[in-house]
This record gives sequence, structure tokens and C-alpha cells, in this order.
Amino acid sequence: MALIKCPECSKDVSDTTYKCNNCGFILNKPKRGVTGKIFKALFIVFNFLMIISFISLYYGLSQADPQASESGATAVAGVAGTGTLIFIWIALGLPLGIMNYITRPKAYE
Ligand SMILES: [Zn+2]
Repeated sequence: MALIKCPECSKDVSDTTYKCNNCGFILNKPKRGVTGKIFKALFIVFNFLMIISFISLYYGLSQADPQASESGATAVAGVAGTGTLIFIWIALGLPLGIMNYITRPKAYE
């Protein structure tokens, strides 16, 4: 390993170190790997799509036929739709969130 000068305090530090031992200056910012970037993007896109689904579901229900809502059909559709969306959100969002957490940038110390 090579020694470099810390830009903050000018002390010699290893070029593989995460931060300066002397002043704590961050020399190498931890980066997300390619897998981590993919999971982060998927997680963001997935949550965005879920929010859109919720909005369109409730927008659809508010536009529904008033006679249908009197019969309770809209309420049933709303409960079923919300249940399905929440199920999808947990079933897919949870593993994605876990993978996103596992592949997060780590400080190499
Ligand atoms: Zn330093």
C-alpha cells in the first residue's frame, strides 16, 4: 500500500484507508457497487409505481358510478384493491428494501 498526503492536515496516510487517522478527513467515499445501484434504482421505481397505483385506485373509486357505491360494490373493490396493493408492496418491497440495505455503501475500515 502506498502513502499519500492528507489534503486536510498534510500527514502521510495510507491510500487504502477510508479516512485520515489524524484529522478524520474522508479520503475515500464508500461507493455502491453495480448490484447496489441496480437494487437502489429498482427500489425507487417500485415504490414510485406503488404510489401511482394507490393514487389511480382511489381516483378510480372516486370516479365510480354512484349507484355502484350505494350497493357497496365500490367499497368492496376498494378494500380488495387496497389489500392487493399492500400485499404486493410488502411481498416485493420488503425483499427489495433488504437487498437495498445489504448492498448499501460500506466504509472500508
Ligand atoms: Zn488528515
